[in-house]
Amino acid sequence: MTFERTGFRHDMAARRARVARTLRLAPTVVRVTFAGDELAGLAADGPEDHVKVFFPDPATGELHAPRMVDGALQRPTSGVSVSRDYTPRAVRQTDDGTELDLELVLHGVDDGGPSGPASSWAASAAEGDELVVAGPRGSRGVPAGIERLVLVADETAMPAAARWIEHAPAGVEVTVILDLADDDADAYVDAPAPDGRSSPFARTSVERLYRSDGPGQVEEAVRSLDLDDPATTYVWAAGEAGTLIPVRRYLRHELGLSPDQVKVDGYWKRGVTNRDHHEPLDPSDPD
Ligand SMILES: Cc1cc2nc3c(=O)[nH]c(=O)nc-3n(C[C@H](O)[C@H](O)[C@H](O)COP(=O)(O)OP(=O)(O)OC[C@H]3O[C@@H](n4cnc5c(N)ncnc54)[C@H](O)[C@@H]3O)c2cc1C
Repeated sequence: MTFERTGFRHDMAARRARVARTLRLAPTVVRVTFAGDELAGLAADGPEDHVKVFFPDPATGELHAPRMVDGALQRPTSGVSVSRDYTPRAVRQTDDGTELDLELVLHGVDDGGPSGPASSWAASAAEGDELVVAGPRGSRGVPAGIERLVLVADETAMPAAARWIEHAPAGVEVTVILDLADDDADAYVDAPAPDGRSSPFARTSVERLYRSDGPGQVEEAVRSLDLDDPATTYVWAAGEAGTLIPVRRYLRHELGLSPDQVKVDGYWKRGVTNRDHHEPLDPSDPD
């Protein structure tokens, strides 16, 4: 089965953005709202769009990021450039201009695990802080013709999963498996959407798994799904790369779903700094 996905490229853009406000959605997740004149024209229309966010170098506190010069992207010529991928959870127009919401996981801040420049920045983000947002480079719509959408997401992929739910056409059955650190993350699942409406996860069938209960649960939950007739099903999964390798193997090789029906994206990898999600999830079996 092949599903068509509309897609288009955006003009290259790097935009300076200023923190307007922050909202702690759960102990380890913060929604940061950005404003600023350069956000004008920002569009993020696809559920899994992503931007490259440039953070200050933690060693110096200096921000070295690309900027637009005469319509062309000019990369910084000095300093250390620190960037990570994030999902535009919402883009909205207000009387004061365009606002952008990102939702960032604060890993390693209180949990004893490794932190990183993005996580540490987000933990102390305050009104007026500045960074640079580049992209998104492109947007792709929900595949046409699907009857069922299965979403598998950890906290880093929940902004995109929420957008998948919001973009799914009426009548599409949505099933969600969430891979959460522990039940503190329930507050994030239940948090209102940026527009103030109830959590998009409240509108779907959601299975909550807690990593604190042990490994292997995500694969087991995906294996337990009733996917006997997957012809009209699309599966989108994102989160920790190692967790998702067996999920992808099951979907692609045991169930035989085609690459057009399945996307499994390693948003981060345990022990790896700034993982490039364009690298194959499973190096022994690249697409
Ligand atoms: C397309 C795309 C969209 C994404 N969207 C979002 C989003 O909307 N919100 C979001 O929070 N993240 C999102 N991510 C994931 C985010 O880019 C990574 O988690 C990133 O590594 C965080 O950067 P850092 O500087 O905090 O940590 P890094 O410097 O990259 O890593 C330092 C250490 O922390 C570990 N680490 C990284 N992330 C986590 C984590 N979540 N939990 C535990 N340990 C971790 C690494 O394994 C490494 O050991 C997205 C990633 C991709 C590819």
